[in-house]
Amino acid sequence: MKLLEYQAKEVLASLGIPIPAGRVARTPDEAEAAARALGPVAVKAQVPVGGRGKAGGVKLARTPEEARAAAEQIIGMDIKGFRVPLVYCETALDIGQEVYLGFTVDRPGRNNVLMLSQQGGMEIEQVAEESPEAIARLHPNPWRGPLAYELNALVFEAGLGRHARQLVPVIQKLYRAIPDLDAITAEINPLVITTEGKVVAGDAKLETDENADFRHQDLLDKYAGEIEGDAYEEEAKKRHLTYVALDGEIGIIGNGAGLCMSTLDLVQRAGSSAANFCDIGGGAKAEVVENALEVILMNPRVKGVLINVFGGITRGDEVARGLIQARDDLHMTLPLVVRLSGTNEEEGRQILKDHGIAPGANAWEAAQKIVEMTR
Ligand code: GDP
Ligand code: MN
Repeated sequence: MKLLEYQAKEVLASLGIPIPAGRVARTPDEAEAAARALGPVAVKAQVPVGGRGKAGGVKLARTPEEARAAAEQIIGMDIKGFRVPLVYCETALDIGQEVYLGFTVDRPGRNNVLMLSQQGGMEIEQVAEESPEAIARLHPNPWRGPLAYELNALVFEAGLGRHARQLVPVIQKLYRAIPDLDAITAEINPLVITTEGKVVAGDAKLETDENADFRHQDLLDKYAGEIEGDAYEEEAKKRHLTYVALDGEIGIIGNGAGLCMSTLDLVQRAGSSAANFCDIGGGAKAEVVENALEVILMNPRVKGVLINVFGGITRGDEVARGLIQARDDLHMTLPLVVRLSGTNEEEGRQILKDHGIAPGANAWEAAQKIVEMTR
């Protein structure tokens, strides 16, 4: 389960990590009331994705009126395909420094890894890419967890030695989320060091292992109902489609999880990225193809669609017929590229050509073509 910021902060507080005072607001009225009680606040969109700041989902409000106006703007906004259902208003911080603190599962290392950097804040992805040495890492012994001296060394390695006394206990407490809550990823970014030298969680992300949900019924009861999925996920579910929301601009339909994944990679390599994908599975009939295309096109960020089907049980002519039908029913005007091979590929390609769609010779060529057409 991926918790929303305010939920993750409640959990951090229960582990003993300092968080700012805050209140959830579902309406501008409630945001105004929150600011009246709390003073100057940060009004923050609650969606289960990062990058809210850059998307305009975090606004500072000095007065209750400003908090109301901020909530009016943020509630209902679309952030990476998630409609913002509510905001969290929390006491604005006197930020001295923004630090990054987190852990995740290091799969190749077969261990967990704790990460700490003094270059926290909204550019952490760029830091990780361009200067990975600016992020200090520790792989604690999984049986005994991190020891105090190891955490001290981590803090010094990150160049934050001055704050070791405040930081070490916070890292120790955050780590408890692994054994106690079956957390697989946590991120406090920024972990704020205030101008007075206090350490407070300015943001929080927490994801727990869903295979261990049965051990945390209390967390599920408390939080699961609040988390709204991607706006189009519900629609996909109703139609019994396997649909995944992403944040790029190409819609992808494929048959089989592996083929869909490699199609995402090809689109990425060709210089764009996927907005979503739909796995139509094996043996898909024309109707399923039409359904998939309709759901994929609901997201207004989709600028073009790439269809990659390898026919085993799925027949190429069946897919092609479904596609033509769908394109015409939906009056689709966006660029569409199809790669079709396997069972009945000749018939399928002929149907596509007869209806004005030139099939890609192979998956890589098709990926390059759709990226080019959507530029
Ligand atoms: P994210 O963009 O989804 O990671 O959202 P964050 O909660 O991390 O907020 C983004 C940025 O907003 C932070 O890096 C801070 O610089 C700023 N910010 C968030 N909360 C506060 C606050 O209470 N006070 C101040 N001054 N800035 C804040
Ligand atoms: Mn953040």
